[in-house]
Amino acid sequence: MLTIKDLHAKINDKEILKGINLEVKAGEVHAIMGPNGSGKSTLASVLTGRELVEVTHGSVTFNGKDLLEMSPEVRAREGIFLSFQYPVEIPGVSMVNFMKAAVNEHRKYRGLEPLSASDFLKMMRERKELVEIDSALTNRSVNEGFSGGEKKKNEIFQMAMLEPKLAILDETDSGLDIDALRVVANGVNKLKRPDNAVIVITHYQRLLDYIVPDYVHILYNGRIVKSAGKELALELEEKGYDWIKNGENA
Ligand code: ADP
Ligand code: MG
Ligand code: MG
Repeated sequence: MLTIKDLHAKINDKEILKGINLEVKAGEVHAIMGPNGSGKSTLASVLTGRELVEVTHGSVTFNGKDLLEMSPEVRAREGIFLSFQYPVEIPGVSMVNFMKAAVNEHRKYRGLEPLSASDFLKMMRERKELVEIDSALTNRSVNEGFSGGEKKKNEIFQMAMLEPKLAILDETDSGLDIDALRVVANGVNKLKRPDNAVIVITHYQRLLDYIVPDYVHILYNGRIVKSAGKELALELEEKGYDWIKNGENA
């Protein structure tokens, strides 16, 4: 589904990503972990197409197409969900109306008719239940005054509604409370399907107490220095990141 080959990228003339290789197949959940400043968010920015980051070498293909050539809108249309896709606050527009427009836009790209009001509300009820988001959140205006945790929960809800092929979730570095961590983790676990994939980017070992990744990658100093199964998260929990920084190999 997603193939990243020898990806190098820089921000303001400083090389941040120094040769990333990653292959994500349908049905898989990948966790990308690593200490602060490793380049995790920079990698997310490359995948989202943020202009700040300049790709200097390598390739990223999504279902056989060149992802780097696509605008952020086309990426979304192709089925990529990026966290902070809708970061703006839109006062006066409820999450309900916002999501209805987004869902119908996605349906249109897939050649489907818009949902009726009642079908949409039914879908919304089901998905809210699935990812345990309460109406207090969805009744509010889009992102208006949302805390970090609420933004994350909202993202999981958007994911549940839009059913992306590939979701990329970059955790904010600000502390998520345990409730938000649980909602994010449960959401990722419940939305997992044979035909979709998720990349969870985080430096919180805690998140992987709840999430069940198929693969865990450690990104350090612009490179993936270790990849393994979910047991790697447990190892990190036990040993922290120092052994990675010291160049030790397990
Ligand atoms: P992580 O998400 O793993 O904590 P980042 O991708 O945010 O790491 O940052 C990687 C490196 O890129 C850091 O050294 C950081 O200082 C640098 N960096 C990130 N964003 C910017 C920016 N806007 N301008 C300059 N340097 C940046
Ligand atoms: Mg950081
Ligand atoms: Mg980051």
